[in-house]
Amino acid sequence: CAACVARARQVQQLNVFITETYDMAGQQAAESTLRHRQGSRLHVLDGIPVTIKDAFSTAGIRTTCSSRILRDYVPPYNATMVQRLVDRGAVLLGKTNMDEFAMGSGSVDSIFGPVRNPWKYNFQTRHQEQDSQPIRDSCHDLKPKSMQMRTMHHHVTSTEDSDWFITGGSSGGSAVAVAAGICKAALGSDTGGSVRNPASYCGVVGLKPTYGLLSRHGLIPLVNSLDVPGIFTRCVDDAVIMLGALAGHDPKDSTTVSDPFQPFSLPEHIDITRLHVGIPKEYHAPHLSEETLSTWKRAADMLEDAGARVSQVSLPHTPYSIVCYSVLCAAEVASNMARYDGLEFGHRGSDHSSTEALYAQTRHEGFNDVVRGRILAGNYFLLKRHYDHYFTQAQRIRRLIANDFRKVFEGGVDILLTPTTLSPARSYRWFVQADNRTRTEQEDVFTQPVNLAGIPAVNVPVSLSEDGLPIGLQLIGQSFQEKTLLTAAKWLE
Ligand code: GLN
Repeated sequence: CAACVARARQVQQLNVFITETYDMAGQQAAESTLRHRQGSRLHVLDGIPVTIKDAFSTAGIRTTCSSRILRDYVPPYNATMVQRLVDRGAVLLGKTNMDEFAMGSGSVDSIFGPVRNPWKYNFQTRHQEQDSQPIRDSCHDLKPKSMQMRTMHHHVTSTEDSDWFITGGSSGGSAVAVAAGICKAALGSDTGGSVRNPASYCGVVGLKPTYGLLSRHGLIPLVNSLDVPGIFTRCVDDAVIMLGALAGHDPKDSTTVSDPFQPFSLPEHIDITRLHVGIPKEYHAPHLSEETLSTWKRAADMLEDAGARVSQVSLPHTPYSIVCYSVLCAAEVASNMARYDGLEFGHRGSDHSSTEALYAQTRHEGFNDVVRGRILAGNYFLLKRHYDHYFTQAQRIRRLIANDFRKVFEGGVDILLTPTTLSPARSYRWFVQADNRTRTEQEDVFTQPVNLAGIPAVNVPVSLSEDGLPIGLQLIGQSFQEKTLLTAAKWLE
């Protein structure tokens, strides 16, 4: 625990935490040590340091969703995922930074400031006065077995504060906490890619399980029908352990599976000769970077050379997923955000001249532009005269996208192999330019269809770009076939 806290302090500039819970962590770690000493039966996560995205409610610890409206909100209860971590002996180091209400793909839209990617972050320049153990040593341990990785470079020459790489988002703080060696595992949430996208940019494993396998109780909702808690770890085996500790029915979330989850482990030696891997041709998307494309091809070749059957498949409705997601997301956001009215909890505007005025001012002050924009769009889509044209239509497209996957899997494919993101992490300077902000809405093109279909997927870090940034690939599996998915992921990592 002390080593984790020391590490967190060393990399403070990355802006990982919104709230640190080191005192609580110390106590939990001491209890765990005591259990070890007394020879009591250990819990599955005994003494394991973890961090939690600030979208999960934590009893007595503020939970902000990176928003002004919840800046001082302290929930009275634990989200089921948090409770399970505590019950299984994990040590909670803190609540991690994110995009406001999980809306974003950069972890730059937070009232607490953006999260920074540890890869290529120039600690030397920025920490001259301190003894700075370069973060690259920790990132270096991530070297995948299967692909030749280049040595990590530290070529950042400018000391300007915008000269660093984004983490991806919205769960950027959790991804960095794992990538920078602060903790062994972290919780995120994935509605359209918010675990897999930052996992890819930060070079860690990011698992989005099947919808309903992990409880959403106490996770502040973005899009209830798409949200799933997700898991960040350094390796696939750790993700399997976390999944075993967290998955299964929760009476407090009626959308969770009714059967208890059977924890599993993965074999040391993996035989992939019976695996049928599909390569969706529609995922050769516009703006896919050369390096990501060649990494994808190399991985497919490696699988084939090792005896797996690799074939091209078609998911014809893929191009509609971004627009379908945008409509469904905005519609659910419009309804979800209605609870923030300044009356029951959270920030309250000072204009008390009428109820309407109070609501308006509270939300104007409490939400950022992205959140307000989605509320407005959602209410527009849900107007009686627009409902069929937008919302019903989007639901139809959602079904077509889910059917695309179903047909491919029914055709005998076990796993799909795709890129996770269009390119490695972008520089902050690039990402925040207005033109690029619109373009980055396309960044979720490979991840959003998976949420629309409710199926599981995982980002596996497999390579480094010319510039020394991680490149991840995504494996997509069938509903509740996490074991097959993670077995293939372990082979690839
Ligand atoms: N980038 C997407 C959005 O802004 C997905 C976010 C997420 O998965 N939480 O909505």
